Amino acid sequence: MNNDILNQSIEFIKGVGPARSKLLSEELNLKTVKDLIDFYPYRYIDRSRFFKINELPKNQSEVQIIGKIKSVKRTKVRFRNRLNCEFYDETGKVDLIWYRGFNWVEESLKTNEEYVIYGKLSWFGNNPSIAHPEIKTKDSFNRNIPRRLHGIYSSTEKLINEGVTQKYFIKIIYNLLNSLQNQIKENLSYNILNEYNLIDRYKAIINIHLPESQELLSQSSKRLKFEELFFNQLGFQLTKNERIQKLNGFKFEKVGDNLNQFYKNSLPFELTGDQKKVIKEIRNDFRDGKQMNRLLQGDVGSGKTIVSIMIMLIAIDNNFQSCILAPTEILANQHFKSIKELLSGLDIKIDLLTGSVKTKDRKAIHEDLLSGKTNILVGTHAILEDIVKFKNLGLSIVDEQHRFGVAQRAKLWKKNSPPPHVLVMTATPIPRTLAMSLYGDLDISSIKELPPGRITTKTVHKYDKNRLSVFKFLREQIKKGRQIYLVYPLINESEKLDYKDLMDGYESIVREFPRPDFQVSIVHGKMSSKDKDYEMGRFINKETQILVSTTVIEVGVNVPNASVMVIESAERFGLSQLHQLRGRVGRGNEESYCILMTKDNLSEDSKIRVDTMVKVSDGFKLAEVDLKLRGPGDMMGTKQSGALKFKLADIIYDSEILNNARKCAYKLLESDPRLTKKENYPIRHEISSSSNSKNLWRYIS
Ligand code: ADP
Ligand code: MG
Repeated sequence: MNNDILNQSIEFIKGVGPARSKLLSEELNLKTVKDLIDFYPYRYIDRSRFFKINELPKNQSEVQIIGKIKSVKRTKVRFRNRLNCEFYDETGKVDLIWYRGFNWVEESLKTNEEYVIYGKLSWFGNNPSIAHPEIKTKDSFNRNIPRRLHGIYSSTEKLINEGVTQKYFIKIIYNLLNSLQNQIKENLSYNILNEYNLIDRYKAIINIHLPESQELLSQSSKRLKFEELFFNQLGFQLTKNERIQKLNGFKFEKVGDNLNQFYKNSLPFELTGDQKKVIKEIRNDFRDGKQMNRLLQGDVGSGKTIVSIMIMLIAIDNNFQSCILAPTEILANQHFKSIKELLSGLDIKIDLLTGSVKTKDRKAIHEDLLSGKTNILVGTHAILEDIVKFKNLGLSIVDEQHRFGVAQRAKLWKKNSPPPHVLVMTATPIPRTLAMSLYGDLDISSIKELPPGRITTKTVHKYDKNRLSVFKFLREQIKKGRQIYLVYPLINESEKLDYKDLMDGYESIVREFPRPDFQVSIVHGKMSSKDKDYEMGRFINKETQILVSTTVIEVGVNVPNASVMVIESAERFGLSQLHQLRGRVGRGNEESYCILMTKDNLSEDSKIRVDTMVKVSDGFKLAEVDLKLRGPGDMMGTKQSGALKFKLADIIYDSEILNNARKCAYKLLESDPRLTKKENYPIRHEISSSSNSKNLWRYIS
């Protein structure tokens, strides 16, 4: 399409002019011709359908009826005039009512004329009525509405008051599109249109605004969604191809002594099928000479840690160092301890680097990393600091990635050249469609199978009023030697109110579970990490039976003897977070419980969430539900949601189109990596001219 025209102000479109152009810009941010073309209706009204009165739906839908007027009467209801018409077809009667402006109506309506009326139904018992219907003689209806399917555009109070009505939108868009007939050019190749059965671009844009039929509307919407998702996926593929071309990776070809010995002597259990599958996928990456960038998703407790340990051993067997990054100190400590234990039979040096390591010790760690003495470094963000240098870092593992940003991942890349292989692990599974649109440039591995013998955690919903019975249950569990987590929704650690809830909660728990029979720990984000670790340590060592905390324990903590998770104000958490918390229990051999405490009257949404948690234990399924309930933006946090905003496409409902678009982009670049074939010129041209895809130009120019 010609850019000059697209960037022109809407002021120059027939029927707009300076005043309305200003208004449209202020109210709807519509400034250029392109803005207006992209301003699709948000829903449609089907004016091709006529209802018989005895078949009217018993709700408030908008309907269209053909019939005649039998009587027109002014009536007074509570001192107010109104106009009442009895409107009949051969099957029944509808009352048409006007509350104002009816002089004109009264004068022009004729009783022997056939009319088409259109409006929103109301029901008084079995009597249908329509207030302020649109009314046209059948003749003029047939003459004036060429398209029977009407788009409805979003509008504002102010626009309506200034005369910018739905009809107005339709008129100016109709004028605009007519005048652009030869300017709206195809941006996909003929082959793609053919293969995926897509209509051409101009036809799609015309019909998304002014659909000729339901059929054409759905074809248009399919075509335009495909286009959006295709360029999105093409972007990912181009970035990825570029990276693969540029970035060689280290080759880990050997399976050496460390891995073999560990496998024979120290592996504490048989690996699950999925664990084996993932290790195989990663080994293939290690061998192909390219840098690995892989996302490993696996539910809480699915055994990602052992996978990470085994692949670090492969790195070591090939004379490379590894590091593993955890989002919190607690978690880093825990990883350090368990990795050390598991690898105790091998001659491997493992170091721990967190914010609380003393300067003197830190120096020694830095030296050992640089000399290559240290094989594995476990730590927090502290690892990312520039001063931390490796002799030969070959593999970086990031645990619980949702706490890490892209920028931090990039810092890892800089720790060696070529950059180390990167494995990002997450226990918050992301539905496939989301993963494709967010991490389209990562390869994805999944562990869906849990280790054998896991007993699913029994999940129940209790209202606040049942608190006493819950406490009784907790006492019984403690008597049996179990430990308990009690979590408060300190969603924003800086919020005073939440903090007060937590402290009040803690005090009431101490009152209910008094010393010396009971011991209670507390952990929250405002404590120093030393205090946190101390309190956490008391719980891990079974010195305390109850751990009152915020969601700081959400991630990764492993205390197998803790078998009960109580979540206060559970209605305030999202599904993924509830699932994360629930994953803290059920790690031992005992029956485990998750108790969701909520206030007494829940909103519809909260009720669905809590009920879903009670019924569903599979994290992948929960992620799908969460995505449907909250939408992709909220689910992934606001930062990433921008990447998920499409004009038409919805990654939840259009997963099939997304799959096709991805496949299509992949195949295209396989046959024509820089889009230089003549048949692909339209795509090339789109990339060079559209502001959305411009950043991709460097990959093909
Ligand atoms: P996550 O994926 O949440 O990080 P972990 O790696 O912490 O899970 O594993 C959870 C628990 O399951 C650990 O106690 C671990 O030792 C155990 N585990 C892992 N894999 C297996 C397996 N194949 N068979 C039996 N237990 C396993
Ligand atoms: Mg873990």
